[in-house]
Amino acid sequence: MQGTLAIHGGCKVKSTPFGTGKRFGLEEVRELVEALEQDTLFYHAGEKVKTFLARFNELYGITHSVAASSGTAAIHVALGAAGVTVGDEVITSPITDQGTLIGILYQNAIPVFADLHPRTYNLDAASVERRITSRTKAILVVHLAGTPADMDPIMEVARRHDLAVIEDCAQSYLARYKGRLAGTIGNYGCFSTNDFKHISTGDGGIVTVNSGQEEEYRTVHAFADKNYQRLEGEVFRDLDYLAPNYRMTELQGAVGIAQLKKLPWICGKRNEYGERLTEQIREIPGILPPQVPEGSRSSYWFYLFRLDPAQFRCDRDTFTQALREEGIPAHPGYIPRVVYQQPLFQNKQAYLHSSFPFDRSPDVSYDKGLCPEAEAILETSIRLPVSEFFTPGDIDEMAEAIRKVAAYYRR
Ligand SMILES: *Cc1c(COP(=O)(O)O)cnc(C)c1O
Repeated sequence: MQGTLAIHGGCKVKSTPFGTGKRFGLEEVRELVEALEQDTLFYHAGEKVKTFLARFNELYGITHSVAASSGTAAIHVALGAAGVTVGDEVITSPITDQGTLIGILYQNAIPVFADLHPRTYNLDAASVERRITSRTKAILVVHLAGTPADMDPIMEVARRHDLAVIEDCAQSYLARYKGRLAGTIGNYGCFSTNDFKHISTGDGGIVTVNSGQEEEYRTVHAFADKNYQRLEGEVFRDLDYLAPNYRMTELQGAVGIAQLKKLPWICGKRNEYGERLTEQIREIPGILPPQVPEGSRSSYWFYLFRLDPAQFRCDRDTFTQALREEGIPAHPGYIPRVVYQQPLFQNKQAYLHSSFPFDRSPDVSYDKGLCPEAEAILETSIRLPVSEFFTPGDIDEMAEAIRKVAAYYRR
């Protein structure tokens, strides 16, 4: 027997606290002390950022990456290095963090939104291809919530139309797509080490240079360091194109070295817990767990599942509230609305008192209904937290609460 819902005065499914743990320890302290003992916190003079990147490259099986001050900065650097510029169009996902979009607009390019796969919540290659115009320069793929996008058809579209591909991996460390790591498939992969991601350096970012070409590596590096060319032995400081200062400090690099050692364990646990939850809720009528492309692996930054509204007597928000009363910290959807519905796009105003660069591409639409699947995902989904510090029992109780609430509200 399921019993009375907690929202109606019954017993909570989850009556014990979720597992917790500390993400920083003596390993980070030791690295930080060493960084300070160098008597410099400048990445080029010290060893910490260099070591952080070398370990990251090893973990990812790549030869070149560049540090940045944030994930947003990393994405801007990739766009700049890809030559995205005034009036270009960049096709991306309507469900993402705004950090995906900032760099596009700072390059005075125009974000164009394609629709998503209903169950992976990632870009659908056919929709991407329909959005391509003569101005399209790049595809900025977001691997949402730890799950890799279906990259093969996206790379094929990019090849056919000669477009750069940038992967936003801020939420998807060590996500695997058919054996390959997300972030190593397109031209560049961008990562965030802000305090909410799988690993944290307070703030920070990484750009991978997947061509492995020395020349391109130098371009990416200079774009994150106000165009200083420091990799040749001798420093060249001639400003030959516009580039921001997005440098990472030695303090961030130091913490990053210690955090990277924990990353495989963190992603392993999250994968285990996400899969465990899916296994337990997949047979519940009306519950649609997230899907991962075949042969691929998610590192579940969060867990987003959908309801089939036709199968329930309640709306999504009531279902979410009932879960919360059962002791499960559920949230309705992810971001409040698709990004093109936000004021910047509705008003076509990136810069105060200016309609540039939107006036360069007047035909680009940000109307409601533009990406129906993305809009439906945000209206019918429920988000659950995933943590490497949870216990298997925590996951089982989440599943039990979903089963209980679903049984009560089933039509
Ligand atoms: C976190 C995040 C970013 C931006 O990272 P910051 O380090 O906060 O700038 C970009 N894209 C996605 C999908 C993110 O989740």
